[in-house]
Amino acid sequence: MSAFSAVEVIATKRDGAVLSDEMITWVLDAYRRGEVADEQMSALLMAIFFNGLSAAELATWTDQMIASGERLDLTGLSRPTVDKHSTGGVGDKISLILAPLVAACGAAVPQLSGRGLGYTGGTLDKLESIPGWRANLSGDEIRQQLESVGAVICAAGAGLVPVDAKLYSLRDVTATVESIPLIASSIMSKKIAEGTGALVLDVKVGRGAFIKDVERARELARTMVGLGAAHGVATVAKLSAMDAPLGRAVGNALEVAESVEVLRGAGPSDVRALTLELATIMVELAGLGVDPAAKLDDGSAHEVYRRMIRAQGGNPDAALPLAKVSELVMAPRAGYVRDVDARAVGIAAWRLGAGRTRKEDPVSFAAGVTCLVAQGDVVEDGQPLFELHADDDSHLELGRDAIAGAVVIGDEADVEVPTDLGLIRG
Ligand code: URA
Repeated sequence: MSAFSAVEVIATKRDGAVLSDEMITWVLDAYRRGEVADEQMSALLMAIFFNGLSAAELATWTDQMIASGERLDLTGLSRPTVDKHSTGGVGDKISLILAPLVAACGAAVPQLSGRGLGYTGGTLDKLESIPGWRANLSGDEIRQQLESVGAVICAAGAGLVPVDAKLYSLRDVTATVESIPLIASSIMSKKIAEGTGALVLDVKVGRGAFIKDVERARELARTMVGLGAAHGVATVAKLSAMDAPLGRAVGNALEVAESVEVLRGAGPSDVRALTLELATIMVELAGLGVDPAAKLDDGSAHEVYRRMIRAQGGNPDAALPLAKVSELVMAPRAGYVRDVDARAVGIAAWRLGAGRTRKEDPVSFAAGVTCLVAQGDVVEDGQPLFELHADDDSHLELGRDAIAGAVVIGDEADVEVPTDLGLIRG
């Protein structure tokens, strides 16, 4: 005989009342075991979407998600641990540069990452474009690599917060992803279970992010920072604008190549600036008095990146996959680039083959978009705005349709540049 019925738990939240600790513990465990059905959990998620969770309910919900699986123990490492999580944006390849950079500063960075779904890319898909590189590591391999190299980017094992994978798939098909308590518990349960001592969150807001408005992004950031603090993970959140793509490359191998450019001291200035801003906070949280810019400029971060790739079977010197077909998209008129729409560019890269629609789909490593202009640039009539890359003509055609209208060209020189949206500390 069950302690509760799913209907009772759903009705409690539907009517705006508070779920008891026992109800939350029971419903998450019963869902993990298959005793609560998908349609019942869907109804509960929708009730949470509309009525939210109190701070106490959220704390218990997150604790029970963590308790659904194993926890990584990183306490025996000789370096302080600090990780970063981005809520996802177009062209967001920051982790590839940041993890080795912060390791070069003396920290251990355990980046347990995911694959992309829809038009925002996934870190693992990007790194898998490097011949030989392997995403799946055991707990012992993660600990060894953190000790020897200082940085690991790998798949979060199936044993870590297993109930999140079930809940996330269900949220994806029931329009319940965009709920602050559900996002916060999903992200923070995985970060707490991975065992990091400190965490920086890059909360993206804007057209190319799944949170479009600053106030909601701030509330999400505050909620996650609070959960981190309650679990002894020193957490700082940075809000960053995601209206235009980050850097110029959007697509798996294209983003790896751009990350290596930044590690070599070149690359787009927005990618370098955001990486250094996040690295500075991580180094401070780890209690290290090292200047990340110096470690980027003297080649140390690049050297750690090469060791990190080799440690996971990859060859950092191997040629990256190249697209079979490519095409330039030209400016329809002369003027000033007033806007480059991150969402349109992300969708174009996805349609070109860089992303997946279902989680079992393969991705094309070579497909994507190279942005040849940025906000504020002056362009001539007929000048190339984008280069599209794909594995075949049919994908190229899909990308061509999706990118139409992604750039707005006007006569005014002044463009609105993203403002600093600030930091949220615990
Ligand atoms: N990323 C996650 O891991 N979970 C969410 O709910 C949203 C983004």
